[in-house]
Amino acid sequence: MKKLKILFQNNREWVKSRLEKDKHYFQKMADAQDPLYLWIGCSDSRVPANEIVGLEPGELFVHRNVANLFPHTDFNCLSVLEYAVDLLKIQHVIVCGHYGCGGVKASMEEHQLGLVDNWLRNIRDVHARFKDELEKITNQKERYNRLVELNVMQQVLNVCHTTIAQSAWARGQPLAVHGWVYDLATGSLKDLDCCISSIDQVETIYRIRSPL
Ligand SMILES: [Zn+2]
Repeated sequence: MKKLKILFQNNREWVKSRLEKDKHYFQKMADAQDPLYLWIGCSDSRVPANEIVGLEPGELFVHRNVANLFPHTDFNCLSVLEYAVDLLKIQHVIVCGHYGCGGVKASMEEHQLGLVDNWLRNIRDVHARFKDELEKITNQKERYNRLVELNVMQQVLNVCHTTIAQSAWARGQPLAVHGWVYDLATGSLKDLDCCISSIDQVETIYRIRSPL
């Protein structure tokens, strides 16, 4: 219980410090949110989305799961994206993975962990797709890092293959989907330069014409 009490103590101190800077802070927060960005990141406790990009509450819409996946049939991911794009009109989706990701590492190993193996199967599919490239990398850590990057790039594509992203482009709504990796050891972000911001950048087979 002591460990939980400290959280309430921290909360009281946080409320106090916020109100000292702006006495209307929480009133403003309660009224509305107006984030420009959607962050799709890993659940890992070492990758706190807002903090690493220096954004305040209200400025970043966040979805996190194990290994920052965006499976095309996952209603949680799809609902978050739909709300962010259609209602909040966010202009940038950032898929952010991280080196040292336990989910990616588990997907490279043979032993069973449990239910999560079915979730991580999505990364095994990425691994299978890029098997030739990955097998050429003899250093195990470098191969692992490369799979972290390839996984991010695949999730960027998965976001762009949705009817949600494609409908936004069809109605002229600006939307760019980015792939980044966070380095736990340095605190730095790396842009994988795989940004997609129009239907023309999507492979023809995944284009779904909007009825609008
Ligand atoms: Zn992770």
